[in-house]
Amino acid sequence: MKNIIAANWKMHFDINEAQDVARKMAEIIDTTAIDTIVCANFIHLDRLNTIFQKTNIKLGAQNMYFEEKGAFTGETSPIMLKSVGCKYVILGHSERRHIFKEDDNLINKKTKSAIEHGFIPIVCVGETLDDRNSNKAFHVIENQLKNSLDGIDLRKVVIAYEPVWAIGTGVAADKKTIEEMHNFIRKIATDTPILYGGSVKPSNAEELASIDNVNGFLIGGASLVAEDFKDIIDKFIKTKGV
Ligand code: PEP
Repeated sequence: MKNIIAANWKMHFDINEAQDVARKMAEIIDTTAIDTIVCANFIHLDRLNTIFQKTNIKLGAQNMYFEEKGAFTGETSPIMLKSVGCKYVILGHSERRHIFKEDDNLINKKTKSAIEHGFIPIVCVGETLDDRNSNKAFHVIENQLKNSLDGIDLRKVVIAYEPVWAIGTGVAADKKTIEEMHNFIRKIATDTPILYGGSVKPSNAEELASIDNVNGFLIGGASLVAEDFKDIIDKFIKTKGV
């Protein structure tokens, strides 16, 4: 199973800041043991494509519309992303689902389009704290997977399990919670890399990497600092022994 560590820079950095962090990453991160991906804002992609060209860091977007072109003001197409060297695209991130009201049906269309255009989509699923407290976590994840990945060859996607209550809080889900959910997802997606996301940082990277069926991380906050991102990558590789 392929191991992947992806940075999600969200809506951080102007172009100069993005360039500085990307240059630092290009200088200090060089591994083929896992796939390293940086998912940046649309306006950063072209510049980052140049910076990462001769490195082992691959480029990803944080969203994508499913149509190729047309009257869709403010949207970004797969053709556009391809033209700036993107290989991956995050789809259905919890912030897209909750703030921008994206539903599984839309995520499904985007995922199908991404695959048709040769991208590897990183499809995010995750339950809210309410879902968990009312014992609905497994049901919610099963439904999100079933609906957002309907009709899709699961070997062509990456799944990111990101409990909404652990994203950006500084407190990751505990080992047992992650293990149970990743084992549950594994039964549905036998050949798909499953990433964990939610407050991964250098201080918990080893513990989280030691969990079975965790094939990598999707990292927000800690990926904004090149040295922290590298530290997490190194710890993951060492712990997994890959
Ligand atoms: C994310 O953006 O997908 C994420 C997991 O953020 P953080 O690492 O900051 O919790």
